Amino acid sequence: MSRTPPRFLNFRRTFALLIVLVVVPSAGLSGFGVVAIINERAAVEKRLEAAWRGTLESLSEELPGILASASLEPVNGQLQFILPDGQPVSEPDGAFQLEDGQVRTRDPQLAEALATVVPEAGGLPTEPTVFSLTTGGRAVLVAAERRGSVVHGVRLSVQQLEALLAERVDPRAVSSEPVRFALLPVPREPSEGGLMGRLVSEVAQARASALGPTGLAERVLSSPLQDFRLVVLPTGEDPVARASTRNRVLYGVLLGVFYLTLTFGVVYTGRALYREAQLSRMKTDFVSLVSHELRTPLTSIRMFIETLALGRLKDPAQTQEVLTLLMRETERLSIFVERVLDWARIEGGRKVYQREIVPVSELVNAAVEAFRTQRMEDGVDLTVEVSDGLPALDVDRAAVAGALLNLLQNAYKYSGPDNRRITLQVRGSGKGVDLTVEDNGVGIAPQERTRIFERFYRVDNLLTRRTEGSGLGLAITRRIIETHGGRISVQSEPGKGSRFTIHLPAGKA
Ligand code: ADP
Repeated sequence: MSRTPPRFLNFRRTFALLIVLVVVPSAGLSGFGVVAIINERAAVEKRLEAAWRGTLESLSEELPGILASASLEPVNGQLQFILPDGQPVSEPDGAFQLEDGQVRTRDPQLAEALATVVPEAGGLPTEPTVFSLTTGGRAVLVAAERRGSVVHGVRLSVQQLEALLAERVDPRAVSSEPVRFALLPVPREPSEGGLMGRLVSEVAQARASALGPTGLAERVLSSPLQDFRLVVLPTGEDPVARASTRNRVLYGVLLGVFYLTLTFGVVYTGRALYREAQLSRMKTDFVSLVSHELRTPLTSIRMFIETLALGRLKDPAQTQEVLTLLMRETERLSIFVERVLDWARIEGGRKVYQREIVPVSELVNAAVEAFRTQRMEDGVDLTVEVSDGLPALDVDRAAVAGALLNLLQNAYKYSGPDNRRITLQVRGSGKGVDLTVEDNGVGIAPQERTRIFERFYRVDNLLTRRTEGSGLGLAITRRIIETHGGRISVQSEPGKGSRFTIHLPAGKA
């Protein structure tokens, strides 16, 4: 037999589906955003690179021509490499001579670099020639000419060359970022040095790319400057880093706000839906409970009436007995209906309390009186202790007496049939009064102690199942007491008994 799942389960499933439908696409969307930001950075890099590519190309083509037009001339006794417009592009102290296999220069780095060309010195051309040399991973640019067996030359100044390039281009025409040109050596793997050397150079390269300036665009120069690359360096803040940082921060903040709102929305909707589902479940429970509670007395009433109607009872004493039973059943019915209506009135906010100043003893007497009339036939040992000098209370007499009566009824209902002992103690407490009902009944397990005050909640045990009740008594009692500014609490030891205490504040009159 198939059953439709309860609404409550349906709610959970729907809610889980909703979450999946929202969370999965939003996670995808966030991931997509991260990829988009990375791509955007790459796009900015590409755009700048493209903007500079043409300029770099023409500069690198022009440079060898410019250098070819310069000549080696002595200035103030020092050999210099001078452009046709008179501008020197050599190091002031960079002059050198190669003679008889000997290098003569004041620049030690230059000396080291030149040592490699000494054997070929005789083959150098007689007109000024520019070439680059590398030693120990560093590149040196020199201009030299051979006069007979002696080679004269000078080291070129990288700064001067950079200045020369800067003069030829207006960077603003290319892109808005402030930049400068730099001639940097082309990183090359050292041909010797083995594993250790390679390792050192790789570490150095990784460091340089992580810490060193990152160019917007670069181009390796053509011969004779093949050991150098022309790099466009941003002089201000790196525009690529700036754009990507701004986007990353913006994206992070938006993502944070989105997930915060999403979480809030999910929690809020979840709570609202949960409450709705609970309420609708409670309504269904209520209808089935009320119908169930009405069915039992109605069945017995019908049985008794049938018995009477069929004239089966000849003995007037028997008739009287059936009539008494009928009366008790109808009374039970009206008490139950009254309680349900009471609850509906309280829940709907339609219950009107007629407050007046009442002495505590009057409330106690009214409750005990009602309790005694109901339980006349059963043996119960009820002790009532009321302290002297208690303050009067400002309450609705019938409502509070009813609440107290409910505690007495519960104490009776949830105690074993033998040796029932109920104590009602009334004492002053702080600025009010404590009314305590203690029994020696079945007691209440710790996890049930708060739930018993919920509407329609009944502890599920054998005694409760055999006892009539709606699960509304304590809920109504608590509502009444709280509306009067008081509170109700319970202490209990399962198997030994329970102790319910109502605390009410003293009346103001
Ligand atoms: P009802 O008595 O109609 O079931 P109540 O709201 O008065 O509803 O009580 C709720 C539940 O609390 C009861 O079903 C019972 O299990 C438990 N309870 C109430 N009073 C006592 C008591 N004095 N001793 C043990 N259990 C109690």
